[in-house]
Amino acid sequence: MDKRYLFTPGPTPVPPQVLAAMGEPVVHHRSPDFRPIYERCLARLREVCRTESDVLLFTASGTGAFESAVVNLVSPGEPHLVVSAGSFGERWIAMTSAYGADVDELRYAWGETPDPEDVRARLAAREAKAVWIVQSETSTGVVADVQAIAAVANEAGALVVVDAVSSLGAVPCETDAWGLDVVVSGSQKALMTPPGLGLAAVSDAAVAATGSTPRFYFDWQRTRDAQRKLDAPFTPPVSLVTALDVALGMLLDEGLEAVFERHVRLGRAARAGAKAMGLELFSPDEDRSAVVTAVLSPDAAELISGVRNRFGITLAGGQGDLKGKIFRIGHIGWFDVFDITTALAAIEIVLAELDADIERGVAVTAALDAYEHSSVA
Ligand code: PLP
Repeated sequence: MDKRYLFTPGPTPVPPQVLAAMGEPVVHHRSPDFRPIYERCLARLREVCRTESDVLLFTASGTGAFESAVVNLVSPGEPHLVVSAGSFGERWIAMTSAYGADVDELRYAWGETPDPEDVRARLAAREAKAVWIVQSETSTGVVADVQAIAAVANEAGALVVVDAVSSLGAVPCETDAWGLDVVVSGSQKALMTPPGLGLAAVSDAAVAATGSTPRFYFDWQRTRDAQRKLDAPFTPPVSLVTALDVALGMLLDEGLEAVFERHVRLGRAARAGAKAMGLELFSPDEDRSAVVTAVLSPDAAELISGVRNRFGITLAGGQGDLKGKIFRIGHIGWFDVFDITTALAAIEIVLAELDADIERGVAVTAALDAYEHSSVA
């Protein structure tokens, strides 16, 4: 059997109708075959980002879309505040520094949740052109309170740039209502599409604040002007845009609130199952942690190769210092509770074979109960 199961927090499983769209004949991007798809996809992106601003599409991974924010907003020597509580926060400190920003690094231990009051104190001590924050720190499972942090940043007159790569379409991200100037994401997570498209929702204030760093492909103004005429500045990956359009249609048909609720319940199911086995959670045991569940295990490395070799299941390991100490179950995008129970059942079998001290036969029931019998406020 070569059946594969993907439980990583990106890339994520792609629904068959989205895959089918990838297989349609390639059309020309400046022809009437593509324009209506492009227009609809861009409109749906605005709906999913909950913004009236333009959502700019780039043929890039999430990191590329994030680099668009850095090259447009950072000029050498400018003060910026970057919040880091994990692998991706560290990446944005490195990237903003690489472009010459004078970075105030607000650093937390991996697994901690950023505190808006710390952001307030930093901004009171030193102003910043922008506050850079990760919404869902995929390396730890922590989902930050972006709304509260943005409120503090807005009060201080700073722009707000959010890495929503693993959170957009899984947990609420109210771009306009929360005063977020830039929201960056990628196609391969909750948006249920293969990797390859990066996106950035960009407010007028952000475009007006662009700086002196040289740029071309990632220049926001160029892409925004072109997109407004439905005339992409460079050849877009038409098959990916067509697929993303289908995936966004699925999300909007389900209804974003229902999608968010499903993710809360998936998170509850994963945590309940892990705890029932007697495992200790690394990610917070809270509803906001609805993207990825991180679990402590001294057997993490053997577990990950065990479920892979025995069952064709791909789990994620830990990053950085967490390598070998945790495993992560991603549950963003095209997931239902039976995906969670599949992962838990396999984890249980392999951990038992590794002689781990776990309770057998309880995880699946606990997960199903947590999913079915919980109402989401
Ligand atoms: N930010 C977060 C929170 C992520 O989870 C990821 C990918 O896992 C990235 C950024 C980087 O995205 P990409 O791998 O698409 O460049």
